[in-house]
Amino acid sequence: MAVDGARTQLIRIETDRRLGHEWDEWDGRPLPGGGDFSAPPGLFFGFAALTIALAMGILAAALYLLAPRLALLSATLPVVLGWGIAAVGGIACLWLALLLLSFYGSAALLPERLLERGPYLQVMNATSRVARFFGRRDWVEHAAIDVYNTLAERRGRRVKKGELLVLIPRCLSKETLDGVLAIAGRYEVPVFVATRGQLARRVIRERRPRAVVAVACERDMMTGLRDVAGKLPVLGLTMQLPNGPCRDAVVDLDVMDRWVRALAGAQ
Ligand code: SF4
Repeated sequence: MAVDGARTQLIRIETDRRLGHEWDEWDGRPLPGGGDFSAPPGLFFGFAALTIALAMGILAAALYLLAPRLALLSATLPVVLGWGIAAVGGIACLWLALLLLSFYGSAALLPERLLERGPYLQVMNATSRVARFFGRRDWVEHAAIDVYNTLAERRGRRVKKGELLVLIPRCLSKETLDGVLAIAGRYEVPVFVATRGQLARRVIRERRPRAVVAVACERDMMTGLRDVAGKLPVLGLTMQLPNGPCRDAVVDLDVMDRWVRALAGAQ
């Protein structure tokens, strides 16, 4: 308690909230929208296009500045590199168009290694960095994860009960935790509480699942998908954080039930 003249100010120190490092800069104020960062997929696609345009612009500017020196090595080098950058830009635009058509259409136009479990993971992370600059990080990450899940779910993957792993964070509310455990019990799939990304990776290494349903906030999910989704099929369920980060998180249990049933339900 801090005493300031006639005014007495109570400083509340939270002892039951351990912030994940992704939330280090949280100022203690309520999160916007009550901690619900739902956003339409178009937000991700807009930022992804901006990210690709920025990357191409940076490469073109670097070539423009370095061209006189490169020309000293070989007169044709700047021209060749210019065509190389144009080709990379063309391929990136074509890939983005195929991603859009795969998402809004009814069928994936590329195999998963060239789509949601391939370049998508890098584009998603680069887009998140650009979105941070505009103060839209959590919403863009939410939209990116939704797009990823839609594409991954459509693959219609199925595994045996023992081959599916449910990973949950330590911050779920009591009701949500009970709901998650009920779903896991119904479909007889193991649940692990992964307190840190490192631990989640260890559980995956040791249990060797063939698919994972992971629960986390957008920030943690981005790192998790980047590290794991390339090696293993993952569906990532994001949460609402009505009481701020890292405590009393809530998830849509209907979505979790649908995912677990589709992956490891009736065999
Ligand atoms: S998943 Fe939960 S505990 Fe982990 S960083 Fe996000 S809000 Fe915090």
